[in-house]
Amino acid sequence: LRVIRPFVQATRIIGAIADGTPAAAIPVGKYRGEIDGMFEALSVLKDNAAARKRAELERDRLIVDLAVMAETDFLTGLLNRRAFESRLDQALSQSRGAETILAFILFDIDDFKGINDTYGHASGDEALKTIAELCRQTWRQADVVARVGGEEFAVLCHVDTAAQAVEMAERMRQCIAQSRVTAEDGTVFVLTASFGVALARWPGAETADTLFRSADELLYRAKMEGKNRVVPGKTG
Ligand code: GH3
Ligand code: MG
Ligand code: MG
Repeated sequence: LRVIRPFVQATRIIGAIADGTPAAAIPVGKYRGEIDGMFEALSVLKDNAAARKRAELERDRLIVDLAVMAETDFLTGLLNRRAFESRLDQALSQSRGAETILAFILFDIDDFKGINDTYGHASGDEALKTIAELCRQTWRQADVVARVGGEEFAVLCHVDTAAQAVEMAERMRQCIAQSRVTAEDGTVFVLTASFGVALARWPGAETADTLFRSADELLYRAKMEGKNRVVPGKTG
């Protein structure tokens, strides 16, 4: 029995290493000669397995971090354009059962070039971060909010009525107009933005492309009609 015991012990240890469960203490130095050599080898194997496990966990964590980074706009922490487009494609392809309206709200800061020119690029960046913060306060968790261009933002949300989407855009417009941004030199300045609200009845014929184009046209009209306003489209 005394001859077999170390092998029974070794078998248990190897099994634990293979399963990735914490192995019992390895009795290095307890036995003599080849048996001790075997336990020493097992001890090395256990350390290597643990190191590999740590490396795997680290790799998995990095993959998650990278996936998040690839979808995030660095300055504002919102989704970037690529992520937004993929969410839009998803929204258009996924059945939601009941008929709903998909609202695509596109907005662009008014006279942003002037803000940069007057207060400096860093103050312009501050303004973009302020808008992102207002977005986080305004939109629901289920809504997709992204920075899709330099000073252009897009929101995707499901609504029951077209009026609801227009109301949300109007609320955001007012929030922006009431916000104050502090420039690098301490001056406080105000911002406004123009909005286009494209609406797609779901399920329908709209594609990501046609929705983007409609929202863009409506936003352009908001600019032409004097900026700092919401121009809604018809429910497609
Ligand atoms: P409009 O009311 O018609 O939208 O005029 P605008 O000045 O906002 O539009 P325009 O397209 O002429 O200028 C956009 C400016 O946005 C120009 C560009 O330098 C600035 N911009 C783009 N990305 C960034 C950014 O990341 N940070 C800062 N500070 N400025 C940016
Ligand atoms: Mg602009
Ligand atoms: Mg623009």
